Amino acid sequence: MSIADNLAEVKARVAAAAKAAGRGDAPELIAVSKTHDAAAIQAAIAAGQYVFGENRVQEAQAKFPALKAAHPQVKLHLIGQLQSNKAREAVALADAIHGLDRPSLARALAEEVRRQGRSPLLFLQVNTGEEPQKGGVMPEAAEGFLAECGALGLDVSGLMCIPPEDEEPALHFALLAGMAKRMGLSQLSMGMSGDYEVAVKLGATHVRVGSAIFGSRV
Ligand SMILES: *Cc1c(COP(=O)(O)O)cnc(C)c1O
Repeated sequence: MSIADNLAEVKARVAAAAKAAGRGDAPELIAVSKTHDAAAIQAAIAAGQYVFGENRVQEAQAKFPALKAAHPQVKLHLIGQLQSNKAREAVALADAIHGLDRPSLARALAEEVRRQGRSPLLFLQVNTGEEPQKGGVMPEAAEGFLAECGALGLDVSGLMCIPPEDEEPALHFALLAGMAKRMGLSQLSMGMSGDYEVAVKLGATHVRVGSAIFGSRV
């Protein structure tokens, strides 16, 4: 199947899941284009997709300035772990950052937001599975970290998670949705190629779908 066909199918499934859950709104589909070249992204743009996700600042910098210049509607979401020393490039390039998960990064982003006068949408990443090797703030520390971000002048819009591979994703999506509600945050970035319909049913406002659109990564 072509990228256009894959996109049409994913969009239809997102819409069907939203409808089945009685949702009136349409979740944002982020087409995760990491490892895929500009031609693949161009094919998605030609099929009407304008929101993309990348997990490495350097790779995004190599692809997106030209794509954005040619297509002003293109939006870039940085979805991966972000190093504090990449905050300047990230704030300059991204329309949203999903990996906000520690005070040093929050300070670096706050400084760049002030300096550049540019405010990407911010998602606080929560390590819902409490996996040591994974990024994200631990669930019990999330409220405190949100307050810290607020004190730095950062306006956090929502929460993001990546469930452990060997666990039922629905449990993690429900946990994240409950936390967001308690914390007064409206946006939820959750769901990937294998589980985005479940995420939509549990309230995802943003799903991050890569391989189901662009094919497998090598
Ligand atoms: C790669 C990636 C995705 C997309 O994964 P697929 O399984 O290919 O849909 C989503 N979120 C993050 C954080 C990723 O790094």
